[in-house]
Amino acid sequence: MDAFSQICPYTKNCPLFNGKLFTSHAANEIYLSVYCNNGISGRLDCKRFLLMQAGFTPPQNLMPGDSRTVEDICKNIKTF
Ligand code: SF4
Repeated sequence: MDAFSQICPYTKNCPLFNGKLFTSHAANEIYLSVYCNNGISGRLDCKRFLLMQAGFTPPQNLMPGDSRTVEDICKNIKTF
């Protein structure tokens, strides 16, 4: 993974990046510009990115700007 890439390395399997969380194309584009295509500072603000970096699979509908801490989100992820 190129830590300095402008684009998030998790785009391929990310439902937000692939337009599956919004019906509004305009809203999706805003999220992409703020988080996904905004270099390391953008993705370090994304809870989805931070969870994956920690080895967790984010809940399908988790928003990048979720107000909970990564630790709190992880507590609610079921592991089998
Ligand atoms: S920055 Fe977040 S929302 Fe965007 S592709 Fe990466 S994990 Fe998905």
